[in-house]
Amino acid sequence: MIVVMKIGAPDAEIENVCDEIVKLGFKTHLSKGEEHTIIGVVGEKRGEARTTAMSRLAFMPGVDKVVPILDPFKLASRSSHPPNTVIKVGDAEIGGDDFAVMAGPCAIESHDQLYCAAETAKKCGCKIIRGGAFKARTSPYSFQGLGEEGLEIMKKVTDELGLKSVVEALSIQEIGIVAEYCDIIQIGARNMQNFALLKAAGKITKPVLLKRGMMSTIEELLLAAEYLISSGNPNVILCERGIRTFEKYTRNTLDISAVAVIKHLSHLPIIVDPTHAVGVWSYVAATSKAALAAGADGLLIEIHPDPASALCDGGQSLTLPNFEKLMQEMKPIAEAVGRKL
Ligand code: PEP
Ligand code: MN
Repeated sequence: MIVVMKIGAPDAEIENVCDEIVKLGFKTHLSKGEEHTIIGVVGEKRGEARTTAMSRLAFMPGVDKVVPILDPFKLASRSSHPPNTVIKVGDAEIGGDDFAVMAGPCAIESHDQLYCAAETAKKCGCKIIRGGAFKARTSPYSFQGLGEEGLEIMKKVTDELGLKSVVEALSIQEIGIVAEYCDIIQIGARNMQNFALLKAAGKITKPVLLKRGMMSTIEELLLAAEYLISSGNPNVILCERGIRTFEKYTRNTLDISAVAVIKHLSHLPIIVDPTHAVGVWSYVAATSKAALAAGADGLLIEIHPDPASALCDGGQSLTLPNFEKLMQEMKPIAEAVGRKL
């Protein structure tokens, strides 16, 4: 970090700040300009020592501001781990050359419904199926998911078809049971900053798919990932799913730039959920292609054998023929950007 002194700060105040930096365990690098004196804090580490030092120095007489240089997330940062992290789930690889498309219904409704969607997804090359058993619905009167029965259906269908699954856990109590039946534990947008849930998911070994909160910054997403990694689970897949803006024609606004920013800042895989981002099935194909072209490592996408009768999110789900068409249309793009689909 850098400490910027107020214009005309007397030497005594500058010396006091330098002494405090040394007392806090760092070295100093002094730069006296025409107007401002700037003190570089050398040898800084991320973590508690750094945040304590930042707030201590900010309150000292003569200090104008303290400017951080290092990102506040360490384990999730690319500087701490330059190569891409590749997460293996069965035959699927997320973060490598593959473009991992995870498709399935918003909610698991029945064996037939999930099997039918999963069979098409498999035919199109998908290795991972999505589907919610515990649903985070805005209204308590909306379908809340089949619970454990849904997990049993997911396990049966993925075993029958030789696929893997991603399913959301809404609470700490659900983590164990979701991990027992499924292969990737999803933490949804509404829970991205549920720190107790993140710490609990950090204690399991199965990969976690962490969705960006609809009102969260990229830095907050990476700090949420830091909770998972620092609690013991390095297998974190990030997911951009749209953020809330003033735009009303789409449910959220897909922040496609987050893919490039996260690739720069972090070694973790980043996938895109175009479905929840746009909330309208007819915009899903274009945004899926954009995600692939922008360098995302995969998609999380809602498909349904009969969207009109879906118990949840039918209006944003692709029909199975539309999904097959999209998978075909993405092939030349994948080839152009060097991804396997
Ligand atoms: C979901 O993927 O099922 C879901 C509820 O998404 P989000 O948490 O992004 O709203
Ligand atoms: Mn949904």
